[in-house]
Amino acid sequence: MTIKCTNKVALIGTGFVGSSYAFALLNQGIAHELVLIDMNKDKADGDARDLSHGLAFASPMKIHAGDYSDCQDADLVVITAGANQKPGETRLDLVEKNIKIFKGIVDEVMASGFNGIFLVATNPVDILTYATWKFSGLPKERVIGSGTILDTARLRYLVGEHFDIDTRNIHAYIMGEHGDTEFPVWSHTTIGASHLSELIDMENEDIQNKLDEIFLNVRDAAYHIIERKGATYYGIAMGLARITRAIFNNENSILTVSSLLQGEYGQDDVYIGVPAIINREGVRKVVELPLNEKERQQFEHSSGTLKKVMENAFS
Ligand code: NAD
Repeated sequence: MTIKCTNKVALIGTGFVGSSYAFALLNQGIAHELVLIDMNKDKADGDARDLSHGLAFASPMKIHAGDYSDCQDADLVVITAGANQKPGETRLDLVEKNIKIFKGIVDEVMASGFNGIFLVATNPVDILTYATWKFSGLPKERVIGSGTILDTARLRYLVGEHFDIDTRNIHAYIMGEHGDTEFPVWSHTTIGASHLSELIDMENEDIQNKLDEIFLNVRDAAYHIIERKGATYYGIAMGLARITRAIFNNENSILTVSSLLQGEYGQDDVYIGVPAIINREGVRKVVELPLNEKERQQFEHSSGTLKKVMENAFS
């Protein structure tokens, strides 16, 4: 892909997540042009007007509502359209509804002549990213899901709170499905440059219980928020903005995204949350961490769960 001097994002779905992402892009001055597309055209148009009124306080950016033909010269198409979880619903419960919606959306985007990168956030994100890769025919490097970027951010926040250390100094990953089978990679967690096992006795039962409690709060965070306010959107919006920045700035940053595995971690033909190097080309490389036995089993279980749902969804 040749590097252009404009960074254009086409955002499909301007609901809670999409509009929060648009606001994050504007606040952080990440893109030069943002097109908002939604089947509710008034919502997209209203958001474009509202966001544009912040331009006096932000970096220059062209913001407008549009349609699929606007994807033709977009560098990045971000999809946040589709149904969201209702209280008590799992992410996997959304699969059938959202695959149908995605077939329509991705076909329309590709019909525009789009040849950039897809970034998917709609749930179940790993399966819908796989669907986007299949429906679009684009190389796997250019179809990315938000994966466990949000779960990883939640983990870093909670570990930081526990140790009273800046979240940004916590280096820890959640891997696997963005959903109930995800898992924390404690074997590769560092605070600053110190490995967690140098700071605490990981075999101590009380400490084990505390780490388990932190992880459960990460895994179930969406349920807790949805019970309280109906949807989650600010955290994921910041995560999507972070991935967008890594792409547009050609950063080669390591972020936990949903990426296609073709042999990595012993898995094949599945999109799942893994650390990956992100740059202007999309996914440069999946980072393969040597997992311990427990984590390896958790990865296999998570991957197997996604594959089972996909077998039914795509049959
Ligand atoms: P929402 O209902 O507020 O917004 C969805 C938007 O999609 C609406 O504006 C709707 O009009 C639009 N839409 C639906 N079908 C469409 C179509 N065919 N074409 C164009 N637009 C269409 O929902 P939300 O709270 O913004 O959530 C969106 C998705 O993001 C959900 O699937 C949710 O589960 C997911 N989500 C993902 C993460 C993550 O970490 N990946 C976090 C939070 C939410």
